[in-house]
Amino acid sequence: MADMTVKTNRGTSTTLDASLAQTLAKSMRGELLTPESSGFDAARAIWNAMIDRRPALIARCAGADDVVACVRFARQHDLLVAVRGGGHNIAGNAVCDGGLMIDLSRMKAVQVDAAKKTVRVEGGATLGDLDQATQEHGLATPTGINSTTGVAGLTLGGGFGWLSRKYGLSIDNLLSASVVTAAGEKLTVSERENPDLFWALRGGGGNFGVVTSFEFRAHPIGKEVLSGLIVHPLSQARDVLRFYRDFVAKAPDELAVWFVLRKAPPLPFLPEQWHGKEILALAACWCGDQAAGERALQPLRSFGDKIADVIQPHPYVAWQSVLDPLLTPGQRNYWKSHEFLNIPDGLIDVLLNAAAKLPDPQTELAFAQLGGAISRVPADATAYSHREANFLINVHGRWSDSASDARCTAWARDLFKACGPFSTGAVYVNFLTADEEDRVKMAYGPSYDRLAKLKKKYDPTNFFRLNQNIRPVS
Ligand code: FAD
Repeated sequence: MADMTVKTNRGTSTTLDASLAQTLAKSMRGELLTPESSGFDAARAIWNAMIDRRPALIARCAGADDVVACVRFARQHDLLVAVRGGGHNIAGNAVCDGGLMIDLSRMKAVQVDAAKKTVRVEGGATLGDLDQATQEHGLATPTGINSTTGVAGLTLGGGFGWLSRKYGLSIDNLLSASVVTAAGEKLTVSERENPDLFWALRGGGGNFGVVTSFEFRAHPIGKEVLSGLIVHPLSQARDVLRFYRDFVAKAPDELAVWFVLRKAPPLPFLPEQWHGKEILALAACWCGDQAAGERALQPLRSFGDKIADVIQPHPYVAWQSVLDPLLTPGQRNYWKSHEFLNIPDGLIDVLLNAAAKLPDPQTELAFAQLGGAISRVPADATAYSHREANFLINVHGRWSDSASDARCTAWARDLFKACGPFSTGAVYVNFLTADEEDRVKMAYGPSYDRLAKLKKKYDPTNFFRLNQNIRPVS
């Protein structure tokens, strides 16, 4: 190992003596990678291929003590730090240029207490790791819709998916967390211990420390959910979406129906003549009694002329990963997001107009249904403060070739702008792209000032700054 040029937390460059890095490496159970190590390039790669950064060091932590050692080392040598959970965040803050990347991806252990209906999961686990373990007992905790997403980043921003209308956000099910603070101390947070930090972690992003494990409540949902897609041609989308908005307005909490406008992928249940053509796909999940679910979904399934309807009982774990093939890592991605109270005709027009001009077969407009239990938690109970939103759009600009960057990004920005007049003005912190610093305060909304004071208390030097950053304020 040679001496290395490193980035400081203040943005300057300095030289780190190799012997210091070797001392850190020896103190860890996990590994410390340098650019010369095999596996370095794989370890610095994250989900969004538009992010291409080279840390000076990557610490592949094996436990909380390794995280403590890394935080203390970075403080002592004034190193810029990035924290990686599942590596999915679109803005790419899991990786830095020149600093120390604290990589938790080896820390994936999940322990279920089936009697107490709780689950403890380490800070590098994916949603798939969590679901696999809880489902052995017929339990589940609400998370997101893509099994390779990290539990940590998703939870620290809020976390919603198919079960959230019934059981709330991921943070609404968080019972406690183990945190390594900016001072390099281990803390337990819960309603009883360090409740101010517990409040901040539930929506404050990665600003307050490295979470080495989360303890969640889990719910007895059984091993199958009534779920699947209903696919319509784009030509029918206006009528279907008008029907949809009235249908979901009365839907019970057990039901979540999201939709996607995109070009049809070559899925086996879609007739070949539709492959590559613009479609509307409604994605539905019912997490209660199946006969009641069949009855509840019947009007939606009977409406219009469908290309396909593949709603049936699916193993929950299979449904949680059903969209994985469309959301693989390594593609170029540029996202934009808005939240809405309702879906007026004008918004439907905007969506359909954009769907007719999709810039790439991988690009899609994804629309999530929120509300239900999410909205019944008081806005100031956690740092996540946008509980009034009933819907959310994620404009998934997605393509393979860098030559398409400008065209696909422009399409996403145009659609985002056109949706603006219909939105609440709020944005989900986990969907912010790297160039949206001007929206960070909006993402934290009314919680921002309280978060800034807590940042001062727990991280006065803004040691954890590679995130949707909250600046410390007295
Ligand atoms: P990372 O990139 O590893 O981390 C993101 C940030 O979180 C880091 O920069 C760091 O600041 C912080 N962080 C990560 N780990 C830790 C830790 N252990 N301790 C402290 N800070 C940490 N969100 C939803 O709510 N619902 C969805 O259905 C959903 N679907 C998605 C699908 C895809 C394909 C993608 C790419 C994202 C999706 N998201 C969804 C958004 C997702 O919640 C965020 O991207 C989230 O940040 C991912 O967490 P991660 O740990 O994988 O990311």
